[in-house]
Amino acid sequence: IAYEVRTPLSVIKTNTEVALLGDNVSSEMRETLMSNIEKLDRISEIINNLLSLSALVRPERMEFTTVDLSNVATEVVQKFSQLARRNDQQITLRKSPDCKVWGNNTALTQIVGNLVKNAITYTPRGGHIRVTIEQAPNNQIELIVQDSGIGIVRKDLFRIFEPFYRADPSRTKGAGGSGLGLAIVSELIKTHQGRITIRSAVGRGTTVSVLFPGKHNRAKVGQEADNRDSLNEIAVDFSGRS
Ligand code: ATP
Ligand code: MG
Repeated sequence: IAYEVRTPLSVIKTNTEVALLGDNVSSEMRETLMSNIEKLDRISEIINNLLSLSALVRPERMEFTTVDLSNVATEVVQKFSQLARRNDQQITLRKSPDCKVWGNNTALTQIVGNLVKNAITYTPRGGHIRVTIEQAPNNQIELIVQDSGIGIVRKDLFRIFEPFYRADPSRTKGAGGSGLGLAIVSELIKTHQGRITIRSAVGRGTTVSVLFPGKHNRAKVGQEADNRDSLNEIAVDFSGRS
């Protein structure tokens, strides 16, 4: 059903974008159409998250190949650059060559996408978001998404990976979310034998780091896929650095 919903949705989005190109669009109508596009993107995001969720029910069906994480990050940053610009935020990407991991391209896009979207959503105007892809010790590849946003209070840090959990809405100024993003991110990272760490300081920002085994660890990722459940590593660091 989710796949079927996606098709008409993208048709509506394209039609709306075409309508926006017209010469005789009043500024009022333009605003309405732009807002529609934003809402359509939001629906697509939710549907993509639901699709990931259903894929996670049968992770053995996820197709793994060698994926360059720098390419994934480039696409994601490109996709969100307009939103960041509209929010007056600066988004930068720093990537190193040869950052290949053994993984599922769609899932990796979903991981980076959800983290970057959070960084944008929970950072006020004028803030900055830094995305880094680099090699780490032991053949690992690291993804870092750093923001200068509102941060996460200690009591919430323990719970943000739970499905539907959202921090105090008064702090997030009613930014509408479903609370699924990080739950999916952490599950997808597990299927990749990765490890996620979040550091946050209230009012200063949040840094999310994800370590993936590099493509050389391919055999290991395959073998351990069976006892995935034993690996549920979510490290939370309260040192206050960000
Ligand atoms: P969804 O991602 O499903 O649209 P969501 O963003 O609310 O909704 P999660 O991505 O799972 O859900 O995040 C859970 C909660 O963690 C958020 O509601 C927010 O309170 C907090 N959070 C996540 N990322 C950040 C961040 N970078 N800075 C501050 N708070 C964050
Ligand atoms: Mg989110």
